[in-house]
Amino acid sequence: MPAHTIDGVQLSKQLRADIAARAAALSAAGHRPGLAVIIVGDDPASHVYVRNKVKACADAGFHSVLEKYEADFAESALLERIAALNADPAIHGILVQMPLPKHIDPAKVIEAIAASKDVDGYSVLSAGELMTGLDGFRPCTPYGCMKLIETTGVDLRGKHAVVIGRSNTVGKPMALLLLQANATVTICHSGTADLGYHTRQADIVVAAVGRRNTLTGDMVKPGAIVIDVGINRDDEGKLCGDVDFDSVRDVASHITPVPGGVGPMTITMLLMNTLEAAERGAKRA
Ligand code: NAP
Repeated sequence: MPAHTIDGVQLSKQLRADIAARAAALSAAGHRPGLAVIIVGDDPASHVYVRNKVKACADAGFHSVLEKYEADFAESALLERIAALNADPAIHGILVQMPLPKHIDPAKVIEAIAASKDVDGYSVLSAGELMTGLDGFRPCTPYGCMKLIETTGVDLRGKHAVVIGRSNTVGKPMALLLLQANATVTICHSGTADLGYHTRQADIVVAAVGRRNTLTGDMVKPGAIVIDVGINRDDEGKLCGDVDFDSVRDVASHITPVPGGVGPMTITMLLMNTLEAAERGAKRA
């Protein structure tokens, strides 16, 4: 029997309805969640991403601010804008769209965002909180993957999870979240000698590489859960993931499609992090 396709669009809809209801309650109490999105430069894909983020905010009843700057915007000016947003009580989350132009140091920018507003979860502090099990912001994409895995109802304790990819924004936090959920975790990367050897032992595989057909049916244990984070183009220019969907679907128990799997969840979890930041802010007020 082919694997059940986990519908990220549907799950996002459900979660966003819940987020909107919580946001309405906060707004009624005078704490409307607010997200500031900053984009520097003219990368067309990045402009699409930020437009989608701002629209998602409006749909959920959030306040949002979109600041667009030319590609030659000075690093010092960007840091000043972040400082101003850090001090703005109407803003609970600050997101600076990556990648930034070459003259701007992304690490400096990320670290300039107040810890309480780091809704992307990219700062060293947020990474440390995740590593040590403290209650901080989880990076949106791995957080969304965990929600997708939760829909299967499978208890991760005693299960073996293989994460393919070790980036700071996806692979590593993904591995830590799976570990937190009591899975036994293996991380694979470009230096892994025999990827299939590892993935064939996995009850859960998360592919976050950025190369299509990284995971094929012969590399998957029957009944495994397969989460595809990758965003690639096939020969016809159509969107595809890292997973060869057709061959893996015949072996896995659950699989996420591309598009319509992890993608919509990333923005949903950005809304969730912003909502949680606003709820924490309301408790402090
Ligand atoms: P990244 O920073 O380029 O990291 C890719 C990782 O894959 C690296 O750790 C790399 O290993 C590893 N890798 C490369 N070739 C490999 C191979 N042949 N076998 C095993 N591992 C290999 O990318 P990323 O930012 O983590 O993103 C990964 C993919 O997810 C991309 O397609 C990106 O567009 C997509 N993405 C999607 C969403 C979403 O919302 N759906 C969000 C974020 C990212 P090394 O460390 O050894 O180089």
